[in-house]
Amino acid sequence: MAPPHSTNDPRENDPLLEDDTPSTAVAVDIDDSPTCGEGSTNKQIDVKVDKEVKLEFGGATGVTFMMIFFPTIMYYFWLCLEFNNGALAHPDSISDTGAWLGRMWKLLRDHATPNLFAVSTYVLFCALQAFLAYTMPGPVVKGLPVPSLGFKQLEYLCNGVASWYVTLITSAILHLTGIFPLSRIIDNFGPIMTVSIIAGFAVTIGTYAYGIWSKNTHRMSGYFMYDLFMGAVLNPRIGKLDLKIWAEIRIPWVILFYLSVSAALKEYETTGHVRAELWFMVLAHGLYVNACMKGEECIPTTWDIFYEKWGFMLIFWNLSGVPFTYCYSTLYLVKTETGRALSHSVPFLVFNFALLLIGYYIWDTANSQKNRFRMSQSGTYIPRNTFPQLPWGTLHNPTYIKTEHGSLLLTSGWWGIARKIHYTADLMMALSWGLICGTGSLIPYFYPVFFLIVLVHRVTRDMERCSIKYGKDWETYCQKVRWIFVPYIW
Ligand code: NDP
Repeated sequence: MAPPHSTNDPRENDPLLEDDTPSTAVAVDIDDSPTCGEGSTNKQIDVKVDKEVKLEFGGATGVTFMMIFFPTIMYYFWLCLEFNNGALAHPDSISDTGAWLGRMWKLLRDHATPNLFAVSTYVLFCALQAFLAYTMPGPVVKGLPVPSLGFKQLEYLCNGVASWYVTLITSAILHLTGIFPLSRIIDNFGPIMTVSIIAGFAVTIGTYAYGIWSKNTHRMSGYFMYDLFMGAVLNPRIGKLDLKIWAEIRIPWVILFYLSVSAALKEYETTGHVRAELWFMVLAHGLYVNACMKGEECIPTTWDIFYEKWGFMLIFWNLSGVPFTYCYSTLYLVKTETGRALSHSVPFLVFNFALLLIGYYIWDTANSQKNRFRMSQSGTYIPRNTFPQLPWGTLHNPTYIKTEHGSLLLTSGWWGIARKIHYTADLMMALSWGLICGTGSLIPYFYPVFFLIVLVHRVTRDMERCSIKYGKDWETYCQKVRWIFVPYIW
């Protein structure tokens, strides 16, 4: 079994590292494998990092607050968009608070109670995605060696592209035949969101209970609420179906895309045309979901999959939070008077489309450069022609730092410019989603602001983890690639 970041010579049979003669690498001899002693020390470090319990997010109290706050804020923003023209709703006075809460509650009860359409749409959609994930063809890739499983590498069937195309074709047929007009999704936003919130909590509790019952828990803190939030189980699976990947890739982005498609179709049904602003959102969400599917084989080695457990944080955000909060721009454009009247000038549209597409290009190619480099290094690289393959997505002559740990840290391509430039690019896209709604409401800017906080927090956690894992090699890397997000600024 290969240790983390196999010491096999990655140049053998490796199209990505052909002509690999790094010019500026600090240490480049990749034949210089760690000795057995070093290998076992590395494993010990990996086990330590993987097991270490840190109380983040304010510990048990902080996460309990978040578990109440997330669904509350989702309902609040939706009510503001659906019934208050995108303005932040509030009581008229302190004495009006009780009556105001009563009015909000009535709106929720009347417009967000699950109905048969919402339950069947959400449940059948999730079941279809699970069925496709189980049955569609696709390459099988190995994940990173899992320290808690004795460094076993789990296999992942990456059939996202086939599943995505089948989903697109199926939905087009259902819509065109009138069996399931897609515009009904946006009409039932409230009830579907409630179903997703219930699903988020139910799956969290069910998975936690299963973990405890089957004694399949990992990195437990001993604080019930904290463990519920972070999860009990590291790699939940039903047969070959990896639930973490299914929930992260197959559910949120696809729902998000269909919310925008549904909004565009709704506008077409009511006005006879679709504005550029809504086309923008369909493109923005379409690019995101397509990227997740086309690069799915790179996902098993990401932080969420190899490190995070499957608890409320991932489950709730994937099953509910991401699709039903990242869609506020779309909701604003179709649900509010101001949004429906919005029509930007051509120069602004060109600017915003350019911001989206440039952000997408950097994001796609930066992720691809690192993931392909890393997959080549561990011998798991598979060439794929999924659409679109962008220029500079693969580095043919990369420079890197070889760490004592054994892993290589890429220092060329986008990774020579800034350490988290893919986060910056993701944020550029997020900002463009907000900007397309102009300045009539703050709510469409929820996603870019929230995402900035998430990514800054992620960077902090990741840097801490990498500095423990790589020690002085990490310092060397940070000196070589000085900037985190934007060169010469941050
Ligand atoms: P990264 O892709 O930055 O992965 C971090 C890991 O990569 C590190 O822990 C380290 O792992 C390895 N690494 C760091 N530097 C280098 C280097 N120079 N060369 C090689 N490997 C390196 O982070 P994420 O997994 O968080 O994000 C992946 C993508 O997902 C991003 O584009 C992000 O924007 C996106 N994302 C989107 C979210 C959303 O809600 N829209 C949420 C979160 C992420 P190792 O231990 O293996 O060395």
